[in-house]
Parts: sequence; C-alpha cells; structure tokens
Amino acid sequence: MSTNLQPIIGLEVHVELKTKSKMFCSCPNDPDERQPNALVCPICLGHPGTLPVINQEAVRRVIKTGLALKCQISQYSKFDRKNYFYPDLPKGYQISQKDAPLCRKGELLDVKIRRVHLEEDTGRLIHKKGHSLVDFNRAGIPLMELVTEPDIRSAREARRFAEELQLILRYLGVADADMEKGQMRVEANVSLRGGRRVEIKNLNSFRAVEKALEYEIARQHKEGSVQETRGWDSLKEITVSQREKEEAHDYRYFPEPDLVPMRFSKKAIEGIAVDIPELPRARRERFTEEYRIGEKAVEVFVQNKDLGEYFEKTMSELRQWAKEEGRKRSVKEEEFFKLAKLCSNYMISDLRGLLKGAGVSDEDFKITPENFAEFVLLIDQGKISSKIAKQVLAEMLSRGKDPSHIIEEKGLSQITDKTEINEIILEVISKNKKAVEDYKKGKENALQFLVGQVMAGTKGRASPEETRQALLTKLK
Ligand code: ZN
Ligand code: MN
Repeated sequence: MSTNLQPIIGLEVHVELKTKSKMFCSCPNDPDERQPNALVCPICLGHPGTLPVINQEAVRRVIKTGLALKCQISQYSKFDRKNYFYPDLPKGYQISQKDAPLCRKGELLDVKIRRVHLEEDTGRLIHKKGHSLVDFNRAGIPLMELVTEPDIRSAREARRFAEELQLILRYLGVADADMEKGQMRVEANVSLRGGRRVEIKNLNSFRAVEKALEYEIARQHKEGSVQETRGWDSLKEITVSQREKEEAHDYRYFPEPDLVPMRFSKKAIEGIAVDIPELPRARRERFTEEYRIGEKAVEVFVQNKDLGEYFEKTMSELRQWAKEEGRKRSVKEEEFFKLAKLCSNYMISDLRGLLKGAGVSDEDFKITPENFAEFVLLIDQGKISSKIAKQVLAEMLSRGKDPSHIIEEKGLSQITDKTEINEIILEVISKNKKAVEDYKKGKENALQFLVGQVMAGTKGRASPEETRQALLTKLK
C-alpha cells in the first residue's frame, strides 16, 4: 500500500463528572468507594416503578465544559433511552442523549468537536477465577461524552488533544479525569484516506492513545483495513482484532418517557459562563506576556495549576518590591523580568526537586510567597551564592522560616568582605605551592584547582567569579 496516505482520526471521550451524587438518584458519587455495591438504590439498580430525577449540577458541568470548548449550547435538550443488554447495565437501557445533545459544534486545538452530551455510566464487571462479578457503584454516575470530527491527522495530535482536554476539565473543576482510574476513557477511530474505519478501545493512558494510533497507522499502511473494533494490548504494544464487520447497532433509541425535556434561557447559560475561570490557553498567553519566562517555564506553570498560582503570588510580592524600590531609584522593566526568570528557575528546578524528594505535593508546602520572594531577592542582590541558595531553600521548606533568619542563624551569607577572602587565598597559596608553580608554568587546570580550594575554604559562601579574580590578582 502507498505510504503517503493521510491518517484520519476522530476521538470519542467519556468523562465521569465529579458531582456529589449520581445522575438520576441521590446515591453518593464516590469513585474511591472500595466496598462493592455499597452505593446503590432502587433507582440506579433499575427496579420497576422507580423514577429518575435529573442532577442539575451534572447538566451545569456539561454546559460549562461546552462553553469552554466554544460549543453552541442547546436551548432545548432531552434525554433518550439507548436500549441494549449487558450484565453491567441493570436497567437494560442507558439514559443518554441522541438527537438533542446539550452542546454541539465546538473546537479545541483546531479540532472540531461534533457534540458533547450527558449520560449515565454503567456498572463494572470483575472477572475472577472463571466467574464474573458485578459492582454497581459506578452505575448511574454522570458521564459526559464528547465526540470530535475526524479532524486529527497524527497520533501525536490525538494525544495532545486528550491531554489538553483533561487540563481544561481540571481547570473547570468539573472532573478529575484521571485516565488510569478510568475517569476519562478515550476511544479512537482511525483510517487512512479511502480505507475502512477501525475503532480502537482500551486506551487507558495518554501514552496508549499515542502508541496505539502509531501502531495502527503503520499496520494499516502495510495491511490495509477492514471495518472492525480492535483493542490495545499495552504489554505487547499492538492492537488486536476484537470484533469484525459489525452491523450498526440498533439501540432502539426513544425519548426517555420519565424525564421532561430541558430548556435553557440565554440568561441561564450566561449565568454558567461567568463561572468559567481563566483557561490554559489564555493563561499561556498571559504568562508569556506578563513575565517573559520562556515557553518551557510557562508550560510547567500551566500544567501545574497550583504551582502557577504560587508563582503569581510570589511575583506579586516582587512587583510590590519593585514598586517600593522605584521610589528610591529608577527600576527598569528588565530588572523585573530578570527577577521573574530567577524566580521561575528556582521554583521549577530547585523547589520542585525538593518537593519531589520529600514526597510533598505542589499544593501543600510551608514556604509563603513573601518568603520565596525574599529568597529570590537575596540571590539577585548577591547576598547568597547559588550554591548556598539550595541549602537555604531546603531549610525554608523543612522549617517554614524566612530566608534572612536562616542565613543569619547559620552564617551563610555570601562573603563580600575582601579581607576575609584574601586571608583564605593566602592560606591556600601557601599550602599548595606545587599548584601555584604549575599555574605559573601555564597549566590552566591548576588555577581551577586553586579556585576550588578557596571556595571550599569559604564553605561555598564566596562567588566563584570574584574568587577567581581575587586569586588571579594575588598570583601575579
Ligand atoms: Zn442510586
Ligand atoms: Mn456513551
């Protein structure tokens, strides 16, 4: 087969919404419940004679998501029954939405979104020693389904789309969307232009989305395709045929007779729109503009929302400092951007490194933004060396004290006193006569060695460059 056929990819994503209760009953929606069938009632178990009641918060969350994805929000929407039999579906049908979804025609990362609708999740089957057990805790949890147009052209793009969608859902606070926990489930359909469409299931990580599509695109180039459903085997890293030439399902959809259609006024939709926070894309643009810290740093702060907010609080302290300093002398804009860069560097590499090492999350550590800002200023003003800075930061993290306090207590301030450095230099010179001779014979390595000796003598409290200069003067 020709190898230049373009892949045509569409995604279907299911997301469990983070509501207090289930979609049509008052059972708790608790994904962490371990006791099987502990969160069930006659409604979500589909007992005859029970009536569903719409969870308004779930509806709100889908509309909020639709708005964030630039969808048209339906002013008229309704639920339908999707009839099929499966042991994890206690009612024999799923309440879903067919022809009047809550949201249509959105867009994310240049991929058009066909629709976003609301339905209920099924139970979970557990296969054990030849038996199948069923847990209905998940049955009836609000489930959002999003379908894209087949606008995606590569495995990488598909992964990017799924990652950005997850980030947006988290910013909106509508879902945790943890793929490993099955809270966000991605299915892909892929064909090469003109070929048969293959659906891929069991993609339970972003990596799986990318790897499975890469594999499948290569496979279709080689073998062509038939209309089928394939599953991703994450151990062997291959897709495996599950069902071939399936007839289109007849779900005998019909309007859910127990629920009245929903209507939304423009005002009601506007009321939801005002709750939408700044989204990742806008935040990327603003951080780039406002702090000029570079693309990589911006992305770290966008991906780690709490750390990004901590950075902003710290920067607001530094802006305040610049303002006060501005009363005494002229403070250039570049000075502020230099502080921003210093601040982001220490936050991203050193602070995060320490947090990771201590097993502390980005949301929960003891350094106040005021103290971090002070720490940044101490480095910027040369009061502590970069080597000492790491030590000070570690102390700040473990004890929650301000940096000046720690520096004073431990005697860590950078040596700026020339006589103190010179004393150490003279001592190093007298103790390392061989190295001094070597240097005078032109061995550059010897100078490095001597600088190292002086630095050690100051316990890292001197600036390497100043030490080098002072040493050169003495060696002349
Ligand atoms: Zn229930
Ligand atoms: Mn669905």
